[in-house]
Amino acid sequence: MEGEAGSDKSLPERVKEVVKENIPGTTEKKEKKEKKPKAPKPPKDPNAKPANVKPPKPAKTEPAAPLDPDAMFKEGWLAGVRKERPEDETVCTRFPPEPNGYLHIGHSKAIAVNFGFARHYGGTCNLRYDDTNPEAEEEIYFVKIEEIVRWLGFDPARITYSSDSFDKLYELAEKLISVDGAYVCHCTPDDLKDQRGGTDVKNKKPRYACVHRSRPIEESLAEFRAMKDGKYKPGEAFLRMKTDDFKNGNPQMWDLVAYRILEKPHHRTGDKWRIYPTYDFTHCLCDSFEGITHSLCTTEFILSRESYEWLNNTVDVPHKPMQREYGRLNIGGTVLSKRKIKKLVDDKYVSGWDDPRLYTLVALRRRGVPPGAILSFVNELGVTTAKINIQIVRFEQSVRKYLEMSTPRLMLVLDPIKVIIDDLPDDYIEEIENAFGPKDVDMGLHKMPFTKTVYIDRDDFREEDSKDFFRMAPGKPVGLLKVPFPITAKSFTKDESTGLVTEIHATYDKPPEGEKFKKPKAYIQWVAESPAHRSPVKAEARIVNPLFKSDNPDDVEPSFLADIREDSLKIFPNAMVEVGFNEIEARRPWPQEAGESKPENCGPESVRFQAMRIGYFCMDKDTTKDKVILNRIVSLKEDAGKTS
Ligand code: ATP
Ligand code: MG
Repeated sequence: MEGEAGSDKSLPERVKEVVKENIPGTTEKKEKKEKKPKAPKPPKDPNAKPANVKPPKPAKTEPAAPLDPDAMFKEGWLAGVRKERPEDETVCTRFPPEPNGYLHIGHSKAIAVNFGFARHYGGTCNLRYDDTNPEAEEEIYFVKIEEIVRWLGFDPARITYSSDSFDKLYELAEKLISVDGAYVCHCTPDDLKDQRGGTDVKNKKPRYACVHRSRPIEESLAEFRAMKDGKYKPGEAFLRMKTDDFKNGNPQMWDLVAYRILEKPHHRTGDKWRIYPTYDFTHCLCDSFEGITHSLCTTEFILSRESYEWLNNTVDVPHKPMQREYGRLNIGGTVLSKRKIKKLVDDKYVSGWDDPRLYTLVALRRRGVPPGAILSFVNELGVTTAKINIQIVRFEQSVRKYLEMSTPRLMLVLDPIKVIIDDLPDDYIEEIENAFGPKDVDMGLHKMPFTKTVYIDRDDFREEDSKDFFRMAPGKPVGLLKVPFPITAKSFTKDESTGLVTEIHATYDKPPEGEKFKKPKAYIQWVAESPAHRSPVKAEARIVNPLFKSDNPDDVEPSFLADIREDSLKIFPNAMVEVGFNEIEARRPWPQEAGESKPENCGPESVRFQAMRIGYFCMDKDTTKDKVILNRIVSLKEDAGKTS
């Protein structure tokens, strides 16, 4: 390989050559009888699965060819929803999170559906903070929600707050009372339940209206103003919508609460209000104020559609939006509820809301999952009215498939053992060329030094050789990926107290000029010591595995906490990366996609690479000048995610 750097060949041609040469697996035999679970057979490609691991079953909905990124809008349920409104009407949607927590993977579906639908049909989408409950809202959630939306590649046309419409909503509440569409009620929560047929599901009683329902309009109006002015304490009075005289079979039509008293200052309106509108009163009206055409939400709201339309019609808003409902996305094997995640954070089971073992979007981002992989996952699943339950392995498989196409490759040694190649001169330096993307010549080449001292992974060495083991053992030639000739271990030293091998002595099996050499049965990853090249790059590698043992931690008794795995985080403090890492860091984000095409949306996590034979990694925010911290995004193969 020496001397090729100066050749006349074009870069793509040279990349092809480098890739062709020394591809592990092309002439290697298989480690068939290997019993150790982690031992990989010499693969055709460094990504291939070891012999003892069943290939993951292809998911049913996974297409053979890459899916059109807009497939979910062009066909099926969303395409149908588009056709329900006039073709010449500009689409306007909104994503309406309650700012009471961090968004999770399920929300990425809502973001993709609302923002993506508007973008696909040439319209706009607002980010609307549904901030009508001052008891649960905090500033940090507002900031983090917007950041994640932008990171996913969407720029809200407007950022709105339901609270900005409190005045208008109040006016419409008075209007509703004056058209005999609402009344002030003083019933207790138990009274309300009773009016709605009682709590015994099997033995429902007849529903009935309370005495307040028939009070004069003027009285309700005066009482509503009194609620606003502080005459009542929380729970003593509230405004109810006068919907359908309890005859309708839909519980959403049983005189829902429109306004309640909450003696809490609001983060935006301070202590101006003592009464706050409910979701049922606010959502449809804010949709109308903002000119929303398609109000897309999840199917728990299907019964709300009737009350949504009733209110807009009764106060006769000039613009009438349309609510339609799609199925929620749920991920099994983890918890998504804000309360449960908060418990994990507060009790220090995890390091924070962005701990890479969680399925909040901030955690997935920190773990290195690219925004495009999340969108592609949602697109693959498609959008219908059915609720979707997906296990973590399926999500990871989708991420792996995405990364496979786009991520540069490097060598990483997790748990290094020093190998001294005794017959190389002390100052020996050979520059080896390696392709970032064996399948994509456009990714280019990088150089790495090969010297007298290299490091290999502890996992790739055995003190005693056996017939079914093809990697490094005393007396057996083994290939170092991309290095022209094999090396052979001759001796090794051990630390007596730990029993661990500390140093291996080897020879470089370069044949005499003109003679052929036998290709080794396996190639392993390595990094060389070369202070002149600042090699190796020192790193700490964090391998995150599922946080829970079962597929349904929510169902575990006495609580989901009993389902936590002890070994969900494995740390390799002395890992080493080859110097190509510096180029990947400088070229980040690589590739540019979704929100990461804007520098302000790129954090350390946009430095991603495939560690050959190990998995996909990214740089963690804990990285310092002296030490790179790496997170494993996903393993190269499904099983390793559960066991290593
Ligand atoms: P959670 O209770 O899981 O925290 P939420 O419904 O309270 O969720 P919101 O902030 O109200 O969270 O959600 C904002 C939007 O995201 C809503 O339109 C909601 O329907 C949608 N959404 C929430 N969870 C999911 C999910 N798992 N799948 C798809 N859409 C979701
Ligand atoms: Mg909610």
